[in-house]
Amino acid sequence: MNIILMGLPGAGKGTQASEIVKKYPIPHISTGDMFRKAIKEETDLGKEAKSYMDRGELVPDEVTIGIVRERLAEEDARKGFLLDGFPRTVEQADALNEILSELERKVDAVINIEVAEEELMNRLTGRRICEECGTAYHLVFNPPKVDGVCDLDGGKLYQREDDNPETVANRLSVNVKQTKPLLDFYENQGVLKNIDGSRQIDNVTEDVIQILESL
Ligand code: AMP
Repeated sequence: MNIILMGLPGAGKGTQASEIVKKYPIPHISTGDMFRKAIKEETDLGKEAKSYMDRGELVPDEVTIGIVRERLAEEDARKGFLLDGFPRTVEQADALNEILSELERKVDAVINIEVAEEELMNRLTGRRICEECGTAYHLVFNPPKVDGVCDLDGGKLYQREDDNPETVANRLSVNVKQTKPLLDFYENQGVLKNIDGSRQIDNVTEDVIQILESL
């Protein structure tokens, strides 16, 4: 099961990804998470990625494609994967097809979670994330039981540096421009599945699972 999750930042990719990996034995591979981990660990990759991420820009393709190629070669990704945040450009999508064809595999479905931009602005600037487990909350739409504390493991909640209004606006506009050709690319391959992501989380998850069960 080789799946790509798409949607603008804040559309709920992370939330749906955690539901999917609870149900199916495939790893959730998020390039954003990989970059954030590298930054935290102060690796060379982290140092290179940070300057782009802080500005809300895309990390260069050769860097991003390289880390995905390595990740897909790992044992746990042999039976399938759930990619989140990658590909972001047609060049990345072409590279992914190449990597997969070398492995005699292909993309089975691209699940695109659709949410209007105004709503995404509200969602992203109110987003808070657990330092320990990465679970996402929202100050208004999905608050934790105790302010600033994760319900699941008591971890401290933080705001991503790129979730401030200025960077969010830039990330959204970069993403809208980049996403359209990608959606066309996967539509042409006959694997694109659009889902209305403005509904309750559970309803969106039901649609996602229905798609995955039909593969
Ligand atoms: P995300 O967590 O997916 O919103 O990604 C956060 C940031 O990481 C983005 O704004 C980019 O700077 C970088 N990033 C994540 N995935 C990619 C990708 N596929 N290509 C280029 N940059 C990426």
